[in-house]
Amino acid sequence: MRTGSRWARLLGVEETIVDGVAVDEEEEAIVASVKPHQRQRNRCGRCGERSGRYDAGEGRRRRRALDLGTIPASLEAEAPRVNCGEHGVVVAGVPWARHDARFTKSFDDQTAWLTTHSAKSTVSSLMRGVWRRVGGIISRVAAEAETLMDRFAGLREIGIDEIRDRKGQNYLTVVVGHKRRRLVWAAPGRDTKTLSKFFERLGGGGARASNALGLSNALVESTNTTIRLLMRQAFGFRDPAALIGLALVSLGGLCPPPPGRP
Ligand SMILES: [Zn+2]
Repeated sequence: MRTGSRWARLLGVEETIVDGVAVDEEEEAIVASVKPHQRQRNRCGRCGERSGRYDAGEGRRRRRALDLGTIPASLEAEAPRVNCGEHGVVVAGVPWARHDARFTKSFDDQTAWLTTHSAKSTVSSLMRGVWRRVGGIISRVAAEAETLMDRFAGLREIGIDEIRDRKGQNYLTVVVGHKRRRLVWAAPGRDTKTLSKFFERLGGGGARASNALGLSNALVESTNTTIRLLMRQAFGFRDPAALIGLALVSLGGLCPPPPGRP
């Protein structure tokens, strides 16, 4: 194995060429200079389609990676822009990070896993004060997992309920699937309009969907209790999408395994 490949393995990145590794004395961190494999270059950051290069963007961009032992690590690379047929001028995607992320995929995945398994203070301490960014991390991880898995497949019996926060000001409508005992869908709001969004996603028309309805209060209640706990943990998330992401990652079977432990 070449030295560059060894570094890529250590840093938990794929389809990535490691050009060099240096120590940033000021930040007391290891900084790896990287670039995507040839076939991963000039791709739209949003959809991944190969696109024409637009310009050099705003120069080199650094992203936090998982620590190497006890030392913080970052990846640094050019961040050119491409012109995508669908999304216009966007920063090119890179194989080591999700679009618009300040962290590598492995860092996102580990943080998401930890958030669903431990307390806020544990996540913050182990991932070095990342809590402020956890909302964004969870939203990205949940959105990607959703594209890889059809949570609506084989859905026959569901339970629907609404949950309100402690102040009684914010509501979430949640749908639980019985067969897999998982949270299938959640959205802010409590009215018919909110629920109609679920039936739109489910497809097949309202009649079929309403025939498929079946309620199990015990399952819905236990899911709701967990979501209420998550709502408390998600204190500080600015966007309700992050809370829903956290609920789906925790209860919807969307949580990625920690990096290197499939
Ligand atoms: Zn695109």
